[in-house]
Amino acid sequence: MAFLQAFQQRQVQLGRINRSYMVLIPKKPGAVAMDAFRPICLQNCSIKILSKMLTRRLQKEIGNLIDLHQTGFLKGRSISETFVFAAELIQTCNKRRLPTLVLKLDFAKAFDTVIWESLDTILKARGFHDRWCAWMRDTLSSSKSAVLVNGCPGPWITCKQGLRQGDPLSSYLFLLVADSLQAMIRSAATVRSPVDSDSPCAVLQYADDTLLVLRGDVAEVQALKNILQAFSEATGLKINYSKSTLVSIHMDAGLAADYVTIMGKDSTVQQAINSNLHGCFVNRMSTQANDELQQLKVILQQTQLTDQPDTRLSAFSRTKDKLDTSAIYRLLKAQGHQDDPSSAFIWKNATPPRVQMFFWLLLRGRIQCRANLYRKNIMDLPNCLVCGMDDETPDHLIFECPIASQFWRVLGIQPDGLHCRNWHHIQRVSGIPDDQYSAFIMMCCWVLWKRQNAFVFRDEVIPIRTIFLQCKSESAN
Ligand SMILES: [Zn+2]
Repeated sequence: MAFLQAFQQRQVQLGRINRSYMVLIPKKPGAVAMDAFRPICLQNCSIKILSKMLTRRLQKEIGNLIDLHQTGFLKGRSISETFVFAAELIQTCNKRRLPTLVLKLDFAKAFDTVIWESLDTILKARGFHDRWCAWMRDTLSSSKSAVLVNGCPGPWITCKQGLRQGDPLSSYLFLLVADSLQAMIRSAATVRSPVDSDSPCAVLQYADDTLLVLRGDVAEVQALKNILQAFSEATGLKINYSKSTLVSIHMDAGLAADYVTIMGKDSTVQQAINSNLHGCFVNRMSTQANDELQQLKVILQQTQLTDQPDTRLSAFSRTKDKLDTSAIYRLLKAQGHQDDPSSAFIWKNATPPRVQMFFWLLLRGRIQCRANLYRKNIMDLPNCLVCGMDDETPDHLIFECPIASQFWRVLGIQPDGLHCRNWHHIQRVSGIPDDQYSAFIMMCCWVLWKRQNAFVFRDEVIPIRTIFLQCKSESAN
């Protein structure tokens, strides 16, 4: 406490304790070159506590200070908002055939290049108290770092610029610096939105990742270039034009090439479209899906299209249009494929196919419960609407939701710690005939699922007694 009070009065000799060890974390396996490492600072404990306290205070206000189009590091804002907004805006420009430029900026070593004087000016301009500005100056200017190489610290380096990666305060200070680009474009009013000529162009940011969507107009591109230059000179954030991407929409190729020259990029628009559009998308497919895509591409390359009408050509066709699944099954068996241990449980009983199909999906965790729909961005929240206690996962609605767990207890099955994927291994209880056991369990799960849906879609609360009656009547059908 004495330390914090002394810091508040600016009476601490920060230079003696504000020291950090810089560790180089490889960005990818087998990193050798210097820029393949990310420097992270391990700070002195008391400085870390101080930094955390200042961060918590700043956290309360930062949301009001930063433009809504910035989504990095801020609680309650999500990168998906930026993504959806950008996609819709670009789609609108495309549909209305508006000449548009989309520019993705890359800042070289963004955190490390921030000029302290400019941060100080920005803090003052944004209304921070003199004392706060002084604290920021004190902590930044007194900092010293040493690089840890194989666990041994090198000589102390006095910092002259940049924000320390690893310091919680740095992220917010960086946002304030990055936000000034938004302010510069807004106040200049010379770079306008392609959709609405009265609004400034959209500047979408996620920390230092910046996407600009502007009108495809020579004067405006030149104005933007001037603003970016002024921003770079003022803040120290240098734009790496060779790594930035420029894509034109509904624009003459020659004109677009001129813009590339104005922006100082040395590649052509065609090159950007050919290479960077793919590079801009993060590949979200699994390794297996990627392998299958490659296999499919090979098959497609070998495929020759003819003018003949399409017919099914399969070694497994029984008649003209019928696939012989039993032949495929026999082939897989002959190749040594084992039966799925759950298959007999699911398919060898007299339950209706819709229940079997539901149970098959349930065992794979793929029913359309809220948690799964949330994962696919269809729902806003994954929570269970019946109990509100947890996410509506397959395990939750079958075993954990209070009425479901009560249901199984009445049947003599302890639901704690059970998982849908293991249904076929779960200890059998007495009182249910062995030959109808799987049918009975599947029917119970089906009724629990229907009960959940009745609540979600029709606000119906079905008491446990009715669930049992439904199980009985469904089984009788
Ligand atoms: Zn629940």
